[in-house]
Amino acid sequence: MTSKPLYALLLDVDGPVASPVTRTLAIDSIAADLVAMARAGVPFVFNTGRSDVFVARTVMPSLVAAGLPDDAVVLAVCEKGSTWFVPKPEHLDGAGDDLEVDERLRVPTGLVEFCRSIAPDFEDAMFFDATKKAMVSFEALHGIDLETYGRRQHEIEQRIWDFLAEQEIGVAWEDRTALNDSDDVALRIDPTIISTDVEHIGTGKQVGADKAVAYLAGLGITPREWRTLGDSRSDYAMADRLHERGFVVRHGDVRPADGLLERTYPVEVTPDPALTNDAAGAAFLTRWRADVKRGEVSAAF
Ligand SMILES: [Mg+2]
Repeated sequence: MTSKPLYALLLDVDGPVASPVTRTLAIDSIAADLVAMARAGVPFVFNTGRSDVFVARTVMPSLVAAGLPDDAVVLAVCEKGSTWFVPKPEHLDGAGDDLEVDERLRVPTGLVEFCRSIAPDFEDAMFFDATKKAMVSFEALHGIDLETYGRRQHEIEQRIWDFLAEQEIGVAWEDRTALNDSDDVALRIDPTIISTDVEHIGTGKQVGADKAVAYLAGLGITPREWRTLGDSRSDYAMADRLHERGFVVRHGDVRPADGLLERTYPVEVTPDPALTNDAAGAAFLTRWRADVKRGEVSAAF
């Protein structure tokens, strides 16, 4: 059976869906609108740097509570494309054995052990995310002053950079790259305002876009258009890939203060500049829900 929903949604989680402050689904309409669209046959794919555990514990319970139907088409691509699963209500604490891991995109075990070992030196500012299966993440302590965090974050990243030099593993860190006597850059140290990720260079939001397309194709679903939503510049990679592959896509940027990127496909922001992060994400979802109800795409708020 094939179906042709108006939209398929590809959604970054932290920022447009989960509040970067509470790190939960803090706005009720987000789950309500996603559930309403799911009932109308709109598939959605979460595309996050978070682990399966975060999606299972923090995102899915809100959707289930809002009445997510059993036949909803939902996929969660986690850890920037290196793991994924089809979330179900029974995944209360993570995907368990249902988690798929792309072994080619997993960071070396020695790096994971090193990072775990230095975590106590930085426990005043951040914690090691033990739920990650393919990458390493340090997350800012909740409530920490972000300037203090930024300083400590730079220090830990320097420690990791130095370790990778000793290990002769090529690495990229912001605008620096070092081959470290290896043949190629294998890893990336990626700081955000509330975390540091150390990840395989092949990961990224474009991987989730490919997985989303493949998943829907396997179910015979061909959306008329894609809608992507993110708060970071790296999130544009989802729409870039969909556009490259010939799909019709519009990207919603919920934190335009970072500066909108110029693209040949439409990039949208909410008309009210006071709306950012999940408040802006909620506005996009409400608009798209109305489009789905009407059966017509919209090009503006
Ligand atoms: Mg984000």
